[in-house]
Amino acid sequence: MGKLLTRQEIPLSDEELQWYISEGYMESKIAIEKKRSRFTCKRCGNHKQYLFAAMPHAACQKSCVYCRNCIMMGRVMECEPLYRGSPHYTWPILENPCAWEGELTAEQQHAADEIVSAIEHGQSELLIWAVCGAGKTEMLFPGLTAALKAGKRICLATPRTDVVRELTPRLKQAFPHVSIQALYGDSEEKSGDAQLLISTTHQLYRFAYAFDVMIIDEIDAFPYHNDLSLKFASKRAAKIDACFLYLTATPRRQEKKRIHQKKLPSVFIARRFHGHPLPVPKLKLSPLLRKELANRRLPKTILQVIEAQQLGSRQLLLFTSTIDYAQLVTDILKPIYPAITSVHAEDPDREEKVRAFRNQEYSILVTTTILERGVTFPSVDVYVLDAGHVVFDEAALVQIAGRAGRSAHDPTGEVIYFHRGKTNAMLDAQEAIMRMNKRGQRP
Ligand SMILES: [Zn+2]
Repeated sequence: MGKLLTRQEIPLSDEELQWYISEGYMESKIAIEKKRSRFTCKRCGNHKQYLFAAMPHAACQKSCVYCRNCIMMGRVMECEPLYRGSPHYTWPILENPCAWEGELTAEQQHAADEIVSAIEHGQSELLIWAVCGAGKTEMLFPGLTAALKAGKRICLATPRTDVVRELTPRLKQAFPHVSIQALYGDSEEKSGDAQLLISTTHQLYRFAYAFDVMIIDEIDAFPYHNDLSLKFASKRAAKIDACFLYLTATPRRQEKKRIHQKKLPSVFIARRFHGHPLPVPKLKLSPLLRKELANRRLPKTILQVIEAQQLGSRQLLLFTSTIDYAQLVTDILKPIYPAITSVHAEDPDREEKVRAFRNQEYSILVTTTILERGVTFPSVDVYVLDAGHVVFDEAALVQIAGRAGRSAHDPTGEVIYFHRGKTNAMLDAQEAIMRMNKRGQRP
């Protein structure tokens, strides 16, 4: 079914594997190509020579070369082929796959129509530029329906595991009779043989020519936006004539340039689904922040703002630049606000904590940029501490601000960037948000 696997990943005996190959269900492929003493990894596309290494290999009784770039997906070696499953598999044609009965806004419908048209006409690319909170998942439903009705196979890929976790239950609910699987580093499902896959972009290393429709959510997010091998993998995972749909709220310069040159078809949704404008971030100077943190304190001005915030009805999402600061800020605030917790990328309880915060078991969640996008809390104020730090680039700051005011019941919410001096990223983010609000106002 369009998989590209190492020998270890195939649960078959040697005889069984040979049978599948002789019958044409599978073929073996060179894993690491060597041309004029230069290596190329055929799984991840890596051709940076310093990302190859050699190790003594008992089976070959010599030193064998392997790829370090994609080693987190299992070791690919020059002496062991990759195995590719036949992409010629017929998927069911589903007459009425979508059970969602909600209604799209006029803006959402416009984007949905463009998506359907791109899929039905086999358009190679379409970028959907939708502000944070535009409701882009729902916009996809008509397109997914059209694809499933035509017996197409779809992959919805995103760089972020949290996004896979958030999208999967929503899609399973909207498409109850479709085979849907979530694939990420430690997902329960591993087989990846569903008609609709929701996957991290890393999992695409394990597919070849498998999908008719490839949707890449958050194309501008780390690590996808600056990782050529993930882009290579997503291209290779799709069929040659596949339709690529890109979703983003904050396209990078490269996409903007291609849109401007009319090389990348796009549709723009400037309004949130509830019709209210995006909260515009406020910039507050806090020159003593790092000094106070070094003494395990927060500046008085910030404490006063948090105190006033906690008297209101919203929860508080507090972003810090590093894991250490997230922990430190949590420790400082805990004696005053016991219902506080922190999350970061390596936190094993991160899923549980995010869920508990959503259930209002905490009033403050301190986080690194891992929660900058893809997560929705109904009623939060959002503060960024030390917003001038390099991790907070324009896209991150726009995404962070986009966490506020997402519910129709509470469409506002306060966004504050606490800083030690304004940066271009802060000013650009603020300007980008105001510009989108202006465009969203037009009838
Ligand atoms: Zn590789």
